[in-house]
Amino acid sequence: MQANLADRANNKPLIRVNALTKYFSLKQTWWQQRRQWLQAVHKVTLTIHRGEVFGLVGESGCGKSTFGFLLLRLLQPTSGEIFLGENDIASWSQSALRPLRKRLQLIFQDPYASLNGRMSVGSILGEVLKIHNITLPEQRQQRVAELLETVGLPANVASKYPHEFSGGQRQRIGIARALAAEPEFIVADEPVSALDVSIQAQIVNLLKDLQQRLQLTYLFISHDLDLVEFVCDRVGIMYLGRLLEVLPAKELHNRAQHPYSKALIAAIPQLQAQQPAAKLLLEGDLPSAVAPPSGCVFHTRCPIAQPSCRQQVPKLRRLDSEHEVACDLV
Ligand code: SF4
Repeated sequence: MQANLADRANNKPLIRVNALTKYFSLKQTWWQQRRQWLQAVHKVTLTIHRGEVFGLVGESGCGKSTFGFLLLRLLQPTSGEIFLGENDIASWSQSALRPLRKRLQLIFQDPYASLNGRMSVGSILGEVLKIHNITLPEQRQQRVAELLETVGLPANVASKYPHEFSGGQRQRIGIARALAAEPEFIVADEPVSALDVSIQAQIVNLLKDLQQRLQLTYLFISHDLDLVEFVCDRVGIMYLGRLLEVLPAKELHNRAQHPYSKALIAAIPQLQAQQPAAKLLLEGDLPSAVAPPSGCVFHTRCPIAQPSCRQQVPKLRRLDSEHEVACDLV
């Protein structure tokens, strides 16, 4: 799984986003003078290389999932660029995006809610093959059987319905549905957080195995830092829709520099004992994304904030070839 630096340097980026922004308009009430906007994603710049697993972590409501949906163009960005290869697809219409859809797939957090309960598994997978014109009609049944076996399910379950499966099996079906389109980029949005702990390792190992075998590229969204370290090549830390730090996932616990990253790591109980020096504890709640703090958005909770942090917006600056951080004081 761990693509080394040389491999990535030799590869062209698969996804490159520049100042990607998504604001949601809130309903205006009669006493409000101006329309309010929720800043879900704010000027995120990031490159994901072909064959890479990029992890995105942060607290609930930090914009992780919105960012993933933007990359898949399931949402229209407010501004910014999304390069898929050489093409900036940020402003493409839905009809222009249609031929690209099969290249970009999503694995949902809740496998049960994402599967149509009135369709058999064979129909769910066959529909994807049909929509994207992947196989001839007479070959669909065979391809469905192959897909099920690829995700560790017997071919004879194709006639069953989603409610007849366990949570882990349903997530395997969700993964098979994503693979049916023969994608090159998959957004896995908290793919194991709704599953029983005993099942999570099986699904994570399946995702890792598929990524290697099929040379897939993932955006792996999670709030579990240990899981991201295990699965991903690089990790980005998000806070209030901003990207605060990017670094190799294997270095997350030892080399994270941003006070927010350190606070997230310190919040993992078993790691506190291993890393007494990293105990920067988060205080207070996540501020509102409708009226984010001025300057550095983290200054209201940052244990080392200075008066200047209220005014100056720190830019993501490069510490080395694989490490960027948005804080001027580290
Ligand atoms: Fe903390 Fe200031 Fe750095 Fe922001 S810029 S993380 S408030 S020290």
